[in-house]
This record gives sequence, C-alpha cells and structure tokens, in this order.
Amino acid sequence: MDRIGVLTSGGDAPGMNAAIRAVTRAAIAKGYEVVGFLRGYNGLLNNKYMSLSARDVSDIIHRGGTILYTARCLEFKEWDNVVKGKENCDDLFLKGLVVIGGDGSFRGALDLTKAGLPCIGIPGTIDNDIGCTDYTIGYDTAMNTAMEMVDKIRDTAQSHDRCSVIEVMGNKAGWIALNVGTAVGAMAIVTMEAEYNIDEIVGKIKATQATGKQHFIIVVSEGVAAKIDGGSDYIAKQITQKTGIESRATVLGHVQRGGNPTLRDRLVATEMGYYAVDLLDKGIGQRVVGQKDGKVCDFGIVDALQMTKPFDMNLYRIADEISL
Ligand code: ADP
Repeated sequence: MDRIGVLTSGGDAPGMNAAIRAVTRAAIAKGYEVVGFLRGYNGLLNNKYMSLSARDVSDIIHRGGTILYTARCLEFKEWDNVVKGKENCDDLFLKGLVVIGGDGSFRGALDLTKAGLPCIGIPGTIDNDIGCTDYTIGYDTAMNTAMEMVDKIRDTAQSHDRCSVIEVMGNKAGWIALNVGTAVGAMAIVTMEAEYNIDEIVGKIKATQATGKQHFIIVVSEGVAAKIDGGSDYIAKQITQKTGIESRATVLGHVQRGGNPTLRDRLVATEMGYYAVDLLDKGIGQRVVGQKDGKVCDFGIVDALQMTKPFDMNLYRIADEISL
C-alpha cells in the first residue's frame, strides 16, 4: 500500500499537532498508510519513525508542541544525505512527504523533491515570517499568549507607576510585536521594519505624562533587542535615565511557543493539512501551502522561498497615532 510521510522540523509551534492529525486522517481517508518521522529530518535519515493510525492522532488537536518532536538536522544540508533520505523513503513505499516547519525546512523539502520524492511544505512557525502566506500555524496562539502576559505585567506597571519594556518573539520579523503591541495599547512598538528613535519614545512618554498618564508599555521585537548591546534591558535603562520613570524589561521568551492552540491555529492547521495530502494524492509535489485573503492556496517551493511579505505599516501608523 502507498504511504504518506509527515514530519515537523525547525522551531515548534502550537497547532503542529493539529496539522499532523489532519495530514494523518486525510491520508487514511484517501486510502494511504501514514508514517511520522521523529525529530525532523533526523528521523528520515536514521529511520526513526512511527506508523500513525487514526487513533494515534486522537486527543492531540488541542495540545501544543509536536508528538513527532522537532529538531534541526544540519547533515540534511548535504546532498548525499538527501539521497540517503530519499532511499529510506523508497524502502517505506512513500508516495510523498508533508513537511511542517519554516523556510529552512522547505529548503530541505525542495532538495528531497529534486532527489525524486514529492514534498509539500506547511508553514508552521509562531513568527509569521514566511513570505508566501498571510498566516503561519502557531502565530495566533503565540500572540494571544504574549497579550495575556502583557496584560498581567500592565497590572503591576500600573500599581507602581512604571514603564514596562516587553520583548516578544518573532525572530527577525516584527509581526508579533506589531499585533501584540496594538492589542495591548502600547505606548511604542519597536520593530526592525519601522525605524525607531529612543528620544522620540521618550518625548511621547513625557508628553502623555503631562496629560496624567502614569504607566507605560513598550513592546520590542526580539530582532531589535538582538541587535542592541544589552538588549531590551538597555532600552529600559535609557528610558529610566531620560525620564526618571522606573523602567523594567521583561523578556517573555519560550512561554510564547507553548500552550493549547487557539481556534484559529487549529482551523488553519486542519485546512492546510488536508490540502497538502490532497496535492500529493493528485500527484503534485514541490509546493508550499499558504493562506491568502483567508483562502488556502499553494505555491512552487522555489517561488515561495523568494516571496516577501510587506510589513503592515498601516497598522503600525494607527497604533502609533493613537498612543497618546
Ligand atoms: P525553520 O524550518 O524553522 O526555518 P531551520 O532553518 O533551522 O528552521 O531549518 C530546519 C531544518 O531544515 C534544518 O535543520 C535542516 O535539517 C533543514 N534545512 C535547512 N536548510 C536546508 C537546506 N538549505 N538544505 C537542506 N535542508 C535544509
């Protein structure tokens, strides 16, 4: 019987399990057996896999993390290992492979397709930093987690008349910072995509302080913090020095990667998982599944890897204009 393989690769994201479930059940519904490789491309290279039945993916749609585990596998960047991986897939009678991960994982999928195995990529990353899709699995959950954390920090910032500088994830992209910053009503949102100036932020703090505002939230993306010596702590210190307001930095960190996926992440994961299997079933490979204007669609992997997504400067301007 033909089989379809699935793996999760790169950084984990809530909703990956929902995608594994959808891939597994869609494949079984279409008459395939399913093989889940463990720890990304490592499982493919070292023959570490599990067969997945419809029951094996019960009770995972609501869980964060990934039952297949995820990892980076640097050896997979070498062509000989890609060929070895393809041979292992042939031994398992694989018709195709679904790779859930980010850009790096799609490069591995492209190589495998070139070696002769049809592969489909599904965007799974909290960072929403994949050019071909408006949305990536895990993004909504991560933003909601960050928003809840900032709400809690706000309570204590308010009690103590403090300024809280909060660093959120997003890799080099400012999507989480922009949306979370807007949703918590931050005084300033600091991302790589929009130029920022500490004196402008200080000016805004002082101007609003003069109208009675006593506590402040600044949301900083990890991409910006990584480029500053001292990171978000340094930004907080600058604000204290220049305003006299006690400022503290909080790095939210890995809390943003975990937790039960939101409805949106489960829905998108389910739709994309089904769609990916449908492509393989039709004999189509070398594609990445995406979402554009709310609709699931697909692109060639080569094109997908070259696509860029413009930052939402309109939302940035709105948030900036009303933070007064
Ligand atoms: P992400 O998929 O989240 O972007 P990485 O960039 O770490 O994460 O990539 C995940 C894995 O994908 C790598 O550890 C490697 O196994 C595989 N990979 C990345 N780049 C390539 C490449 N150029 N060729 C083959 N495989 C790659």
